[in-house]
Amino acid sequence: MKWYTFSANELENELQTNLSTGLTEKQAKKRLNDYGPNELQQEERLSPIIVFLSQFKDFMVLVLLVATLISGILGEYMDAIAIMLIVFVNGILGYVQERKAERSLHALKQLSSPKVQVLRQGEWNTILSKEVVPGDMIRFSAGDRIGADIRLIESKSLSVEESALTGESIPSQKNAHTSLQGDQSLGDQENMCFMGTMVTSGRGVGIVVSTGMNTEMGKIAHLLTSEEGLQTPLQKRLEQLGKILILVALALTALVVVVGVLQGQDLYTMFLAGVSLAVAAIPEGLPAIVTIALALGVQKMIRRRAIVRKLPSVETLGCATVICSDKTGTLTQNKMTVTEMWSGGKSWKVSGTGFDLTGDFTTNNQLIDVEQSPALKQLLTFGVLCNNASISRSTNDIQGDPTEVALLIAGLKAGLSKESLTQTYEIIEEFPFDSERKMMSVLVKTSDHQRYIVTKGAPDVILSRSERILWNDRSSIMDDHRKRDVHHTIENMGNKALRTIAVGYRALKNGEQVSTAFEAETNLTLIGLQGMIDPPRPEAIESIQDCQQAGIKTVMITGDHIVTARAIAQQLNMLPDHGKVLEGNELAAMSVEELESVVDEVYVFARVSPEHKLKIVKALQNNGHIVAMTGDGVNDAPAIKAANIGISMGKSGTDVAREASSLILSDDNFATIRSAIEEGRNIYENIRKFIRYLLASNVGEILVMLFAMLMSLPLPLVPIQILWVNLVTDGLPAMALGIDSAEEDVMKRSPRGTTEGVFSRGLGWKIISRGFLIGVVTIIAFAIAYYENPENLVRAQTIAFSTLVMAQLIHVFDCRSEKSVFHRNPFGNIYLVLAVLSSIALLIVVIYYPPLQPIFHTISLNVREWMLVIGMAGLPTFALAGSHIFNQTKQAKYKFTK
Ligand code: ATP
Repeated sequence: MKWYTFSANELENELQTNLSTGLTEKQAKKRLNDYGPNELQQEERLSPIIVFLSQFKDFMVLVLLVATLISGILGEYMDAIAIMLIVFVNGILGYVQERKAERSLHALKQLSSPKVQVLRQGEWNTILSKEVVPGDMIRFSAGDRIGADIRLIESKSLSVEESALTGESIPSQKNAHTSLQGDQSLGDQENMCFMGTMVTSGRGVGIVVSTGMNTEMGKIAHLLTSEEGLQTPLQKRLEQLGKILILVALALTALVVVVGVLQGQDLYTMFLAGVSLAVAAIPEGLPAIVTIALALGVQKMIRRRAIVRKLPSVETLGCATVICSDKTGTLTQNKMTVTEMWSGGKSWKVSGTGFDLTGDFTTNNQLIDVEQSPALKQLLTFGVLCNNASISRSTNDIQGDPTEVALLIAGLKAGLSKESLTQTYEIIEEFPFDSERKMMSVLVKTSDHQRYIVTKGAPDVILSRSERILWNDRSSIMDDHRKRDVHHTIENMGNKALRTIAVGYRALKNGEQVSTAFEAETNLTLIGLQGMIDPPRPEAIESIQDCQQAGIKTVMITGDHIVTARAIAQQLNMLPDHGKVLEGNELAAMSVEELESVVDEVYVFARVSPEHKLKIVKALQNNGHIVAMTGDGVNDAPAIKAANIGISMGKSGTDVAREASSLILSDDNFATIRSAIEEGRNIYENIRKFIRYLLASNVGEILVMLFAMLMSLPLPLVPIQILWVNLVTDGLPAMALGIDSAEEDVMKRSPRGTTEGVFSRGLGWKIISRGFLIGVVTIIAFAIAYYENPENLVRAQTIAFSTLVMAQLIHVFDCRSEKSVFHRNPFGNIYLVLAVLSSIALLIVVIYYPPLQPIFHTISLNVREWMLVIGMAGLPTFALAGSHIFNQTKQAKYKFTK
């Protein structure tokens, strides 16, 4: 279909829709059924059977299976079946872990899925992009990603970047009113917009002509590159480490086997023991548990309103040293209220708080009638006209940019509504606001055919475009004296932390044409200023303090005036006495190198354009910082991408910013960044916790066998016991550690270095020493039992098996803290307690349940034997806790005597 040749009415007929009310919900539902969801088909997911079978592709598991088969052929049916069963259960566990990880990642993707605004039954609603159907009317503005193929009905200064489709990275101008005939290439279809392209400026409304795989993007969907890898740096490092660990485990296992055979053990037993040991010692579950810990941590973050888009950023969060945050809406509440107004020589106060629609105008505590104050009325009127926000009087529904909402409300307080004003002033053309120009203008026509440009924007910018000023209700020349007065007022308002908006206008001459914002916004007459408060978020103040304690600097980056920015920064306690405030124009004049030399002292960047943000990120990074940077607009995207952690806004942000970011704040709140950092740090610590636990356990297992062989003792553990230990202790307790809560001082430590290795901060030593002790106590328990009664090897093996399991299950509590087992309540993690209790229950079952005894080579233990088991198993953890306490007391005494 050549939709670009259709007129609006033809489209309405062809697509059976209504241009003023859109589709009805019933129609939309039916079409969704007929056409299917508006989605590009995803890559097929692996079938569950393949995922399950892939659990057994591990080389050592295959060797084990073959070995078991051999033992089965040799007549050891019990052993063979039991080992097969354990391998099978292990496979199921791996499968469940992998599926869970995959599902969580899928859920994450869903969360950040795009939304669009559609007109249904006469009302504009925001719905998921996948629910859009042909015939829907959708609207969009700068920063949005177009959700379907559409034919434009309305457009204002619209340009769209279509590189995903045409390869052309320079945005194309779009115009709803261009009429086209014949064959046109995609790039030339000026009145069409296509799914997946980005609106870089302006806004538009269009009718959806095709959705999902029928769109132009759908036709080339198979050409699109797949998603970037989701592995985090730690996962990559662990993968490499895993390979080394396999070699180490194999070498040690081989050593055990060789020593065993030299000491006279028979080859078959040692072979099976060796393979089982290798299977147990190789931490094959590690990557899956890391993914689960990451995915569960990320879900916890979602509950704290931070949505992670790129998994690797979870780790980077813990390394952040600087957070650069937007002011408006993130550090402040974005509930703007005009409280002061000024026009040439006169000033007024406005009462009312928040988005409350009632309030009065006073001057020197005298109530003012706006009708009797022409300058005030004009200031309010133009603030309302040059405005894209809307307030529905019937439903009280407020839509739009809070700055503009504040201006609308100020107008309403004087009885000036947009609906009534647009009857006198027809809006002909609009030059939308952007953060570079810091202005917005409309071209209006009055009933007597007079045309005006009405402009509002940052006061210093408007001032620089103004030749005249309204002074005592009369248009006068803008001389230096008056200019000083304006500056003085801006500063006064700024000192009170008010954001200021200036309003100006120009009457157009007969026949004068304006086609660009630049042409429109010159030679203005300044009418006056409106000052609005936007109170800091109380939780932001707390979070900034927390970040300071956590060694993270917070920096405000704002488009607002320097005086306002400084005042708000002071209210937020984020500007120390020595802290500098830098303005956008100073920043623009500096090279990145010059900025590097001062950037560490700067806490506030004021009147900056989004393009400056990139420079700030670069300078900070060159100084060795790990930078988190927030942004919401199209032009913020490069800085968001360049930052180590790009953060975008879920409520107010644009799709472009969101897609460039690695973290989305669903409540746009600074406090959420702090929570995300805390969770990020905790996730990393949890990963360290179970790495420590798993590897120490493995070291213990190998050493028990090695010690036994060196001491010419018989095998302390039979293969099935080794595999059981691997299954039970590597499973639930390790997972429970992965979702442990944060240690209370997690936000009191300095940020982690990005180059920090997995085993840093003493983790390697802890693994080896704890593993060694676990091995030693187990072999001692075994030796005691064996020498007591050498005839009863099964008894000694049951004791060794129980000691090893119990030592690991006691040690798991020690892993909760970097310091010692008693540093925090060892039973504070209910999942861990349950995991340990169920592991103990399983141990008791295999020891006491008669049918299982021959399979697991166990016998029932009596109380005396249990005392030996528990005494030995507890020794490593309690001895270490004791020595920790002893060391601390010694240190305290030392400090005291000093
Ligand atoms: P940030 O969100 O980065 O903290 P900001 O929202 O204050 O900063 P901008 O939106 O770029 O930054 O606004 C810069 C200046 O432009 C404001 O200080 C204000 O004077 C003016 N301004 C803001 N919004 C509008 C608007 N809708 N129309 C006209 N001028 C505006």
